[in-house]
Amino acid sequence: MARASRNRERAARRGLMLVLSSPSGAGKTTLSRLLLKADRNVELSVSVTTRPRRRGEIDGRDYHFIDRPRFEAMAEAGELLEWAEVFGHRYGTPRRPVERALRAGRDVLFDIDWQGTQQLREKVRTDLVSVFILPPTVKELERRLKRRAQDSRDIIGSRMAKAAGEMSHWPEYDYVIVNRDVDAAFAEVRAILAAERLRRERQTSLSAFVRALQAKL
Ligand code: 5GP
Repeated sequence: MARASRNRERAARRGLMLVLSSPSGAGKTTLSRLLLKADRNVELSVSVTTRPRRRGEIDGRDYHFIDRPRFEAMAEAGELLEWAEVFGHRYGTPRRPVERALRAGRDVLFDIDWQGTQQLREKVRTDLVSVFILPPTVKELERRLKRRAQDSRDIIGSRMAKAAGEMSHWPEYDYVIVNRDVDAAFAEVRAILAAERLRRERQTSLSAFVRALQAKL
């Protein structure tokens, strides 16, 4: 498809904000990566964080790693759509890239926690589609956290302890997926996205389209 017509197609609807939340270790990061690879109309919202960079993480791709005074200045200046403290560090969503993407008809993927999702829900209700990912069992959650093993044993323990609290937020989400099998869970994420893109209110040029159809009858 020529670029011009692809752009016209994009502008024909407003982008949506797809939030994936879960306790750490439920597979949300894997699902996010798969989606970004499979769907070129989805871009990741890269958060700012005061947490130290882990091995293998790249500044600007995984997070923008910043210090606390810079974080506070951004929050104060209204440059963050939402922010929260998680495991003793601050995390926040820069506002401008999100607004730019939505206007261009692109969808934005957020890997944020329930606190951030609550704030987005209050601010941008109609653009938001929220999905909560649950692990199939506690044993599996623990196995995934250990396999990742990027954090010290203490941190893994505290993440396990927090998982129960985080999981209690599932009723606040539009959709819930139990991640028993990554391929099946990924197919479910794509099905949600496909349906949400077809919502009448997101298809901003529908009335002109239908008028043009009617004019030819
Ligand atoms: P991690 O340190 O493992 O990368 O992330 C810890 C938690 O912080 C995860 O649940 C992740 O979804 C959440 N998180 C990451 N970025 C943001 C953000 O910008 N805002 C909020 N509210 N949570 C975030």
